Amino acid sequence: MTISTPRSAPTPAGSPFIHYQDNQLLMEQVSLKELAQLYGTPLYVYSRAALQAAWQRYQEASELGDVVVCFGMKANSNLAILQEFSRLGAGFDLVSGGELARALKAGADASKIVFSGVGKQAWEIEAGLQAKIKCFNVESIPELDLISAVATRMGVSAPISLRVNPDVDAKTHPYISTGLKENKFGIDILLAPEVYSYAKTLPGLDVVGVDCHIGSQITEMSPFLDAADKLIDLLDRLREQDIQLHHVDIGGGLGIRYTNEEPVHPKDLVAKILEKLRQRGYQDMQLVMEPGRSLVGNSGLLLSQVQFVKTTEARNFAIVDAAMNDLLRPTLYDAYHGVLALEHKAGEAQTYDVVGPICESGDWLAKQRDLVIEAGDFLAVESAGAYGFTMASQYNTRPRAAEVLVDGDKHYLIRERETFEHIYGLDRML
Ligand SMILES: *Cc1c(COP(=O)(O)O)cnc(C)c1O
Repeated sequence: MTISTPRSAPTPAGSPFIHYQDNQLLMEQVSLKELAQLYGTPLYVYSRAALQAAWQRYQEASELGDVVVCFGMKANSNLAILQEFSRLGAGFDLVSGGELARALKAGADASKIVFSGVGKQAWEIEAGLQAKIKCFNVESIPELDLISAVATRMGVSAPISLRVNPDVDAKTHPYISTGLKENKFGIDILLAPEVYSYAKTLPGLDVVGVDCHIGSQITEMSPFLDAADKLIDLLDRLREQDIQLHHVDIGGGLGIRYTNEEPVHPKDLVAKILEKLRQRGYQDMQLVMEPGRSLVGNSGLLLSQVQFVKTTEARNFAIVDAAMNDLLRPTLYDAYHGVLALEHKAGEAQTYDVVGPICESGDWLAKQRDLVIEAGDFLAVESAGAYGFTMASQYNTRPRAAEVLVDGDKHYLIRERETFEHIYGLDRML
């Protein structure tokens, strides 16, 4: 299929900090083509202004009450990004001892760290206790027992919250839906009162909160409000049992615009939840949030270069130097990411599947996109700031990409491109 209109440059979907000027795609004031040439491709590029703008939305939400925002750092855990959020005042939601080490290295305030995850090991619990984190979000009874044992051995008290599974449908992709009964996450909310009673009997635990995280890329308010209602019902039950909590953690999951989604503003969501809490007599309850994607997703692009244009009977392929090992979301979740040419050319657009060089049919980044391109041109995959680099691998012995942060008219290398030595340097030959 050919679309033979000289079109004006498209409008990037997700970010006002990415725009065309004289047919060149810029991030803030920096030419992305220059970055691609300077640092090489594939290349992750993030806008500092976009990170700050995303944080600002949560800042506005925080001002409505006692609200703590913990960045769900598995979305993007580059030290420079963590350092920026830490500087802005964010806490962190983390899911491993490695993430704890990263957060502390980046200067995180441990009193704003919450530790989630279904499989915490003793050494990870110990590291969290040593750092004096805000809270462990506990996902099972055996985990309660383990935290109690580790804390008792260390002679300290572990602040804990139960991650309950409220059984609400987040109306998102099944792989990123976590709040349904059949998911591995959390404790069935109907059993939670009993588990709280049990937790109260264990030594070394300080029961401070309740927590849930129902899924990701949620673009409607209703699943969050359904979950909040269920958590508040639970608070009532606990009050009857004389268990008073200090905070309610509503998790992460707010969606972003990949195409034409109209995501919820965190301020609107927080206003509604705080009102529900107030109505039921919990005006002193602290609200904790764990946003990941919505703080970083639209700050980032993945740049690549077109190696070949290949035409077959069924399809046109733009074969680029980025691949599923760099950005897994398309093939893992069948996710849509916009694709932009770094240099907009008027001319006859062809419809392409944008694919990488990896030996898998699943190695694609975008399907059926109208582009005016030829070999040697550069492309940007949009909305790549969340679950991009953090899910990257070295499959096919491909070094992981470099990462760059743009700030106004400046740019900083925030992670070097890996070398082959980084990939096989730890192998040992017989
Ligand atoms: C992944 C995750 C988050 C962040 O989710 P987003 O959809 O990126 O906002 C928050 N909390 C927990 C427990 C998570 O696993």
